[in-house]
Amino acid sequence: MATRKNAKPVPVLCPDCEGKGETSETVRVGARKGRATDDRQAALCLACLGTGEASADGA
Ligand SMILES: [Zn+2]
Repeated sequence: MATRKNAKPVPVLCPDCEGKGETSETVRVGARKGRATDDRQAALCLACLGTGEASADGA
């Protein structure tokens, strides 16, 4: 009778978006100067692709 190890998978929150799945980035205008405006836009987090969880395996 083997005792099954109850390993609970701990969800690791994405450090980039803190589990939100999206990041807010500053809107920049001007190709040359790249002046930052006060506007912010939500962008899909590229680190977790919107899942909000950091991939524990793979990398
Ligand atoms: Zn993320």
